Amino acid sequence: MSGNTSQARTVESTPCAIRRAPARPSAVTALTRAVEGFFVRHRRRLAAVHAAMFVVFMTIIFGPLFTPEAPPGAGAFDHITPFASYVLWGLWFPLVFLSVIVTGRSWCGILCPMGAAAEWGNRFGPQWGIPAWMRWEGLPVVSFLIVTILGQTVGVRDHPEAAAGVFGGTMAAAVVVGFLYGRRRRAWCRHMCPIGLLLGVFSRLGAVEFQPKLRLPGGEAYTEHGVCPTMIDVTRKQESRHCIECFRCVNPEAKGGVALRLRRPGEEVEEIRHHHANPMEVWFLFIGTGIALGGFLWQILPVWQDLRQAFGEWAIERDLLWLAEPGPAWLMSVHPERREVLVWLDFFLIVAAMLAVMALYAALLGATTAAAARLAGRAGADSGFARRFTELGYQYAPVAMVSLAVGLGTALFAPLQLLGFGPEAVRAAKGLLFAASLVWSGWLGWRILAGQGLAASRRWLPLLPGALGSAAIAFGWWPALFGL
Ligand code: SF4
Ligand code: SF4
Repeated sequence: MSGNTSQARTVESTPCAIRRAPARPSAVTALTRAVEGFFVRHRRRLAAVHAAMFVVFMTIIFGPLFTPEAPPGAGAFDHITPFASYVLWGLWFPLVFLSVIVTGRSWCGILCPMGAAAEWGNRFGPQWGIPAWMRWEGLPVVSFLIVTILGQTVGVRDHPEAAAGVFGGTMAAAVVVGFLYGRRRRAWCRHMCPIGLLLGVFSRLGAVEFQPKLRLPGGEAYTEHGVCPTMIDVTRKQESRHCIECFRCVNPEAKGGVALRLRRPGEEVEEIRHHHANPMEVWFLFIGTGIALGGFLWQILPVWQDLRQAFGEWAIERDLLWLAEPGPAWLMSVHPERREVLVWLDFFLIVAAMLAVMALYAALLGATTAAAARLAGRAGADSGFARRFTELGYQYAPVAMVSLAVGLGTALFAPLQLLGFGPEAVRAAKGLLFAASLVWSGWLGWRILAGQGLAASRRWLPLLPGALGSAAIAFGWWPALFGL
């Protein structure tokens, strides 16, 4: 008897002992817990980071206005004006875009002085409810188009006054909107920020996700109640794009709430069906790619001068002499001291050229995506055409992001030259990055088609239009990346 009892105890005690032993967290879990703990502990200190960033932002934006003109040919470390330009366009712009792949919208939650100023201003304002017009999903797209086109016509990359006007104006708009609307929220960041919209789309590719520990059914939802400054119902959160990674919903000790999770870059897009795919976002991806490309192409294509000449002659024939007059400096570049004065004719031509390239690329990418969705349907993919279209549109995210970051942030590669690498090596680095984005876009297309229920052997044909669309984006950016 006693022997049996003893044996029974031994048999029972072994599994109990195993069950009680605390599970050893994996290295990834340990890392995410450590990051969560760090940010939760130091959350209050973020205000100091934001204040410091505000000072840096103001210095970079307005500092050059209070210093003498930079001597011709001055380098980034010779004078504050080229230095500020390098920081803005060589570092900040491309690095913030590329950083979303690793850390999502950490720029927004941890560093951005604009969003922080909008939220700070909100404490003192009337805190009106967020109106319906502001919630229209096209509003940040409009805001993005206005800022991008204005940036081109005033020469935001070449003139410190223009940079001060565009960035200072955006900061002022953020503070005013923040002051007026929402109750302890960031209405500007969710509904109007042109940069946030771009970062939001690309953050879906990121390796970081804030995921509810217990997700309630019902899908992604908008709420002005709760802890989230960008109005995410954190218990139903499915998508990354509106999450600015502020850590306010994170409590490592609680059973509920939200937890930081590391994931494979691109995972959310691969499984976009389960992450609140959005047609407006997809159209923005097409439009944004086109307008950025238009802003670049008008400056370098030889046909531009011919167009300008022809339009000028047409205006003179009709006695439209005011078209040869400069417009206001807040609308177009008027800098006689730097031998750059745009007239109304230039202004209209630049805007028309940018909108034309935008329309062309939106139509092209829309057509390739529609073809992919149609072919996928014929091959047996599930769900309707509109849903397949929206899901497949996301495959362009990597190639669009790398084009924007590398094409517009050409100074990103300047350090390579400082380190002694020649132009060939720089071109090779850009080419590699770009080739990687093309492959990634193809892979995402492949995985999205798998999510639509297509067997591997049936995915090749619907994949082709996506590859064509990516090739069209690459073709457009080719002069920026490798020269004409
Ligand atoms: S959404 Fe715009 S203003 Fe808000 S934190 Fe991000 S970049 Fe800054
Ligand atoms: S979901 Fe959480 S981490 Fe993301 S913005 Fe909202 S409160 Fe901040």
